[in-house]
Amino acid sequence: MDNAGGSSVTYLSGTGWVDRPTTLEPALSGEVTCDVAVLGGGLGGMAAALRLAEHGRDVVLVEADLCGWGASARNAGYITPTLGSDPRILKTFYGDRVRGLYRFATNAVSFTEELIDGHAIECGYRPTGNVAAFRRMTARAKPGRRSVVGDAERLGIPPAFPGGMHIKVGGTVNPGQLALGVRETVRASNVRVFERSPVTGVVDAGDGVRIDLPGGRIRASQAILTTNAFANELPIAPRNLSTPVWVTAVETGPVTSGQLDEAGWTSRVPITTNHFVMQSFRLTNRGTIVFTTRSLQTARRPRADRMPDQAVVDDLMRGFRERFPTLADIPPARAWGGWIGLTPSNMAVAGQASPRVHYSLACNGHGLPQAPYLGTLLADRLCDKGMHDDLAAVWRKSRRFAPGVVNPVTLRLGWLADRTLDRADQFLNRNQIRRSIRV
Ligand SMILES: Cc1cc2nc3c(=O)[nH]c(=O)nc-3n(C[C@H](O)[C@H](O)[C@H](O)COP(=O)(O)OP(=O)(O)OC[C@H]3O[C@@H](n4cnc5c(N)ncnc54)[C@H](O)[C@@H]3O)c2cc1C
Repeated sequence: MDNAGGSSVTYLSGTGWVDRPTTLEPALSGEVTCDVAVLGGGLGGMAAALRLAEHGRDVVLVEADLCGWGASARNAGYITPTLGSDPRILKTFYGDRVRGLYRFATNAVSFTEELIDGHAIECGYRPTGNVAAFRRMTARAKPGRRSVVGDAERLGIPPAFPGGMHIKVGGTVNPGQLALGVRETVRASNVRVFERSPVTGVVDAGDGVRIDLPGGRIRASQAILTTNAFANELPIAPRNLSTPVWVTAVETGPVTSGQLDEAGWTSRVPITTNHFVMQSFRLTNRGTIVFTTRSLQTARRPRADRMPDQAVVDDLMRGFRERFPTLADIPPARAWGGWIGLTPSNMAVAGQASPRVHYSLACNGHGLPQAPYLGTLLADRLCDKGMHDDLAAVWRKSRRFAPGVVNPVTLRLGWLADRTLDRADQFLNRNQIRRSIRV
């Protein structure tokens, strides 16, 4: 398919990071019994299932398609200790809880690094940290124990970013390799895995849980719901738990080392922006650049086979060319997208949908490290290991959630606000540069 610039972009219905495996686990048929059923085989569900099996539980994992093939294999691959909101806003709304939330997010990064190491998963992990770019250099930004603040030159990022904070925690992976690596670990474990097995109903019957699927039924003592953007499709999930949001990713053709130096990206450290809807730019181990987000879309019901829209791909390309003008001739090569589930608080959350059905939702765009960590903490709790402090930080006692504010109108307004601020920033930053030249 051609994009507006005339170059050829391949639009993918899956992920661009890895090829889809050809060997699938069988679909569930007939009646199956187990101690715990895990519903949804993303990183969150797979990590929960692995931990339950480590504790000796008889576990069944059911996945609508192929384990790991949802957001887990399609994301931008950032492993960061980030929460979904500005720290000042978090402090205002969450007060004393903020410390616990940051600890959860930081421990999620170490957990995922250990997951990669412990299972020797080849996913090209580069522990570079990442640069959170500022819109303007500000005297208020203070470096921390593991962060450096500086202008673009100091941080080795292109001059179209005025500067930022290099947070030296985490890094990037090939998320497709990570998700499929965890899938192989689960397949080699005692977990009974069923793929192409969409759950259609969950009933907590008081003495156990009944889970219905097209080919059969599971009877389990307990269940964990980890279906991310699809959470609201099952009526047992708390209402408004998840708003489905479609995120698009674009990958360029190959870029040479000389071109990156010329662009000013000498540090090669991945970059995120602090827009209402952030943008992210990172290098891949195959010498290309992947950028995501900027234009988000939503739908009442997520469709698993959705493809990226050309208009969004074109908009992402515009954002890329503004920040990397010397790479303006590098064509986009591929585009794909995935569904994330936004919670009303824009933060990870876990709780009980009923006495025997737990849920976790750690997406909100930062779930690559947080989903598997939260799934693991929840598995520990089900195995009588108590409530870990990090689980307590995101635990939700009430089943009631206020409706989220994300809808097509607010997403469009956010996009317009970001573009207006971009223009104001460009003007102010140009003047700042002129003034510093005169001085
Ligand atoms: C383009 C993009 C970029 C992103 N970038 C980043 C990033 O750089 N860093 C970061 O931290 N996060 C990022 N994210 C978010 C991150 O990918 C997710 O937070 C994380 O993968 C969530 O994992 P999960 O297991 O909760 O969900 P998923 O991986 O979505 O897994 C849920 C699974 O449940 C299955 N399912 C749904 N309904 C049913 C059903 N009824 N029955 C059975 N199975 C069902 C689905 O098929 C799916 O496989 C990004 C996401 C996208 C889409």
